[in-house]
Amino acid sequence: PIQVPSGVTVVVGLGVSGLAICRHLTRIGRPFMVADTRAVPPGLDAFYHAYPGVDVHCGPLHALDFTRAFEVVVSPGVDPRSPGLEGLIDTLNPETGEPRLVGETALFVRAKRAGGNAAPIAAITGSNAKSTVTTLLGEMAKAAGVSVAVGGNLGTPALDLLADEPDAELYVLELSSFQLETTPTLGATAAAFLNLSDDHLDRHGDMQDYRLAKQRIFSQAQYAIVNRDDPLTWPVQDGPKVVYFSVTPPGEHEWGLVWQGTELLLMQGQTRWVAASELQLAGQHNYANALAALALGQALGLPASAMVEALKAFTGLAHRSETIATLGGVTWVNDSKGTNVGATLAAISGLGATLEGRLIWLAGGVGKGADFTPLAEPLARCARLALLFGEDRGRIVKALSPKVTVREVENLVQAMEAAFAIAKPGDCVLLSPACASFDQFSGYQARGEAFRHWVEHKAAEASP
Ligand code: ADP
Repeated sequence: PIQVPSGVTVVVGLGVSGLAICRHLTRIGRPFMVADTRAVPPGLDAFYHAYPGVDVHCGPLHALDFTRAFEVVVSPGVDPRSPGLEGLIDTLNPETGEPRLVGETALFVRAKRAGGNAAPIAAITGSNAKSTVTTLLGEMAKAAGVSVAVGGNLGTPALDLLADEPDAELYVLELSSFQLETTPTLGATAAAFLNLSDDHLDRHGDMQDYRLAKQRIFSQAQYAIVNRDDPLTWPVQDGPKVVYFSVTPPGEHEWGLVWQGTELLLMQGQTRWVAASELQLAGQHNYANALAALALGQALGLPASAMVEALKAFTGLAHRSETIATLGGVTWVNDSKGTNVGATLAAISGLGATLEGRLIWLAGGVGKGADFTPLAEPLARCARLALLFGEDRGRIVKALSPKVTVREVENLVQAMEAAFAIAKPGDCVLLSPACASFDQFSGYQARGEAFRHWVEHKAAEASP
């Protein structure tokens, strides 16, 4: 094997966060090299150009001997247990007091501390709704006049935030389980674990591993904001003060939903905060998201008026239960970000019980080893037809039939054409794939854009 020179940090993965790590290491003057398992990683030429003299190892990682390396920093796309990295995450580095393998967020925490930056961190994880809650909390902070830096798994990598916005008064970070499992200590002021459903089991092995990775968000946190309805989100360790949110009526100090006559209210204990009808977000899952953001904001000391103002103004993010158009009385909804079963269940129930028998559901792609059977019952109730495309469509068909009427097609466009042909006024065509997109698209955005383009094209054809 090739010896990594003594004291050198090895950055694994030449992607968006890998590059953010390289920029950071350059800033702090730490010698580093890069390793990527691909023979020719995309962006290699640009990298050589930007970092002349930095070694890049392409190919299997077990060709490298890390014995003398200072540490190994992996991108979230890289499994810390992949061949060649064995044992590194379980061995302590005497110089840092942390595992020999860490991720970008660990470097963020270290650099922030080293720079004497005491601005609070708010962190958000969960299988679903991370981006929505992260963005909403950022909007609340802005409305309160707080200079806030928002990023992490969404948008700007955490290390870039720290470099670009060193004077921020608050850092709001979305963190994936992959990022958390390589973050030994976060020390967030307020940390939320929103929900847990099976996703990424191909990588985490089982739910227990996946749950424990996400639980790391609470290490040295002051407040833990967790889902009363989802006990797997509750902290396993003592330490943080626990604040619950729920879609049911709240106990004292908890956040929840209460029906008062015909009005649904977002409440904390006995205190009314805002009526659901005053929000632009729709669906019970989004009210849960709003409650989580309010709980986070309160833990951070944001004023109530600013939080409510931001919440009322928030229209949600693209590709998340986003209504694109109504064509001939048929509503076309893009939930391309619904990349796992839990998200799709939320999207279907968010559309409401009014949909019975009028849903045409478009789904499929890369199933990531998920169990699709929880979809069978709600779909049997709501869906007239399930149109399934992509690599793992056969597995979804197996999980649904005979309860749900299913049809297999090759791709999204064929599914949309079939949906268009059978949809009747009052129907809803929902793309919420419950799968990743990488078999046929570059990502969920490209899949959602393909959906949008097709619908907009049809709308243009229909109008003279
Ligand atoms: P993430 O960043 O965790 O992927 P997003 O905010 O981008 O989360 O939302 C992803 C998908 O999760 C949405 O398309 C929607 O279908 C689903 N979703 C939104 N809110 C919830 C919730 N509270 N519980 C479960 N699923 C949800």
